[in-house]
Amino acid sequence: MRVTLLSYTKDAERLCAAAAHSCYSEKGATDLMEEWDEERGARWLGNPLASGHRSVIEHASYTFSIEGISRACTHQLVRHRLASFSQQSQRYVRQDGADYVMPESIGEDEEAARRFRALMDHIWEEYQFLSERVPKEDARYVLPNACTTKITVTMNARELWHFFELRCCNRAQWELRAVADEMLRLVRKVSPFIFDKAGPPCVSRGRCPEGKMSCGRPRTELCTSERRDRVSRAQGDITPSGH
Ligand SMILES: Cc1cc2nc3c(=O)[nH]c(=O)nc-3n(C[C@H](O)[C@H](O)[C@H](O)COP(=O)(O)OP(=O)(O)OC[C@H]3O[C@@H](n4cnc5c(N)ncnc54)[C@H](O)[C@@H]3O)c2cc1C
Repeated sequence: MRVTLLSYTKDAERLCAAAAHSCYSEKGATDLMEEWDEERGARWLGNPLASGHRSVIEHASYTFSIEGISRACTHQLVRHRLASFSQQSQRYVRQDGADYVMPESIGEDEEAARRFRALMDHIWEEYQFLSERVPKEDARYVLPNACTTKITVTMNARELWHFFELRCCNRAQWELRAVADEMLRLVRKVSPFIFDKAGPPCVSRGRCPEGKMSCGRPRTELCTSERRDRVSRAQGDITPSGH
């Protein structure tokens, strides 16, 4: 799997801070962009974020290329309706038989892995046969969920926050969770203030909303180091409810 941050809003944090503060200032965002400094920015953006007013971070957007993940994974990814997607087409691009994802659970089981590979080989053989006789868009009907794909995804920072809450959670499916974890790591590098507290609810809210379904394993590894220190000082701060 390869996740690349292709492009993102220039000066994202400054822009969102100026936009946020323009709601409460006589000045417009043009002047506020000039007046911005780290201390002011932390206040202008920190206050609305702390009170859950996340519309101000919709001004920043981030575009990723995600390559080598399964169609099973992108089927879940594209359920996020506020994101924009461009996915490699199986109607126009001929698929390669070697490109599929084998889940770890199958790879670790010798007999399961052998059967899985045999089935993939068989499917590819039939796909090749069909794609020489009928249009690729029809031959693709025999392709498995395991097929790899490439997809370009754009989300604004608010949607990313929401996406991380759902998909960095231990209850999310492992492949999409790995994608989301990597996306979080990449956006934190370029917009550390906006994404400092982003992550699954055990990280972002300090509690788990899943009740009895909670995994009971807060993802402290996703806390930024400063936040992890704070979390470990305030023991139980991110303990899921019910645990
Ligand atoms: C652990 C897990 C298990 C899942 N299991 C299943 C399953 O078994 N079956 C299944 O079908 N799906 C399942 N899903 C997918 C899930 O139901 C959502 O479709 C997916 O997570 C996208 O979430 P969303 O709609 O909140 O996000 P987005 O589409 O990204 O939307 C973001 C937010 O915008 C608002 N919004 C967007 N569109 C509308 C709208 N039309 N009307 C009102 N508000 C809107 C909502 O507040 C929404 O939360 C699962 C997801 C997870 C994380």
